Amino acid sequence: MNENSLKKKLSKLNIGGLRYFDSIGSTNDEALAWATDNARDLSIVIADEQTQGRGRLNRKWFTPQGSALAFSLILRPSASLRPHLSRTVGLAALSIAESCRMLGLAPQIKWPNDILLNGKKTAGILIETVWSGEHVDSVVVGMGINIQSDSVPPEEFLQFPATSLEDEIKKETPAREDILYNILSSFINWRARLDTNELMNAWEEILAFRGEQVQVSGGSEIVATGKLLGLESDGSLCLLDANDNSITVRFGDVSLRPAA
Ligand code: ADP
Repeated sequence: MNENSLKKKLSKLNIGGLRYFDSIGSTNDEALAWATDNARDLSIVIADEQTQGRGRLNRKWFTPQGSALAFSLILRPSASLRPHLSRTVGLAALSIAESCRMLGLAPQIKWPNDILLNGKKTAGILIETVWSGEHVDSVVVGMGINIQSDSVPPEEFLQFPATSLEDEIKKETPAREDILYNILSSFINWRARLDTNELMNAWEEILAFRGEQVQVSGGSEIVATGKLLGLESDGSLCLLDANDNSITVRFGDVSLRPAA
């Protein structure tokens, strides 16, 4: 993977610009800086390796050299998409999921921000927003996808089991550029339908643990327990508690697990 091969591969997509790094701290950090320096809509920061890759709450995201996809998209939302920005994480998750499906896999979305294959985490999403007063100026969508086996972190690094596309496909994995192309074209297609029920249905359909008892925790505290029903129209999670009351879990630093 290098800047020329990427530019060539993505030339058919209407991206805003591309910055490629052999190694970087975090693609989201670079994208946030570029966003405040007039990056165009759909500009991409991509790196072969991240040395300070981030998950939520500054948890670490492992991106060793040469084996994963790590990139950040800069979005400059139009007025018509602004009311639906809370759906961006679903849009990103659906795009990764579709690229997995094209490889014959059956991805699921562990709400809010992870993609699972066979119940194991293969990809994560980190969304960060640049505000201008009370308005969203830009949204940075970071995506990390484990492609080759050696992109999977050592077990002691993990709170949730992890896997890679290579481990799940069990045959030769396509080049990272090709997988990136599929994710981006899916993202561009779905973004044009961000305001539709079609997007919400497609997102809800592949939620992990649907119909099952789950536990939602924030830090070390359990904030909700119940049966996972689906999504609200803003992308919040809807559970049914033991007394048949519905509970809405909003975005935030919450983690979902099957109930013990
Ligand atoms: P969670 O979704 O588990 O609440 P985050 O979305 O913040 O957490 O992701 C960070 C966590 O993901 C890290 O604490 C680590 O356990 C795990 N992790 C880090 N890198 C990878 C990777 N390449 N593949 C799978 N899991 C990872």
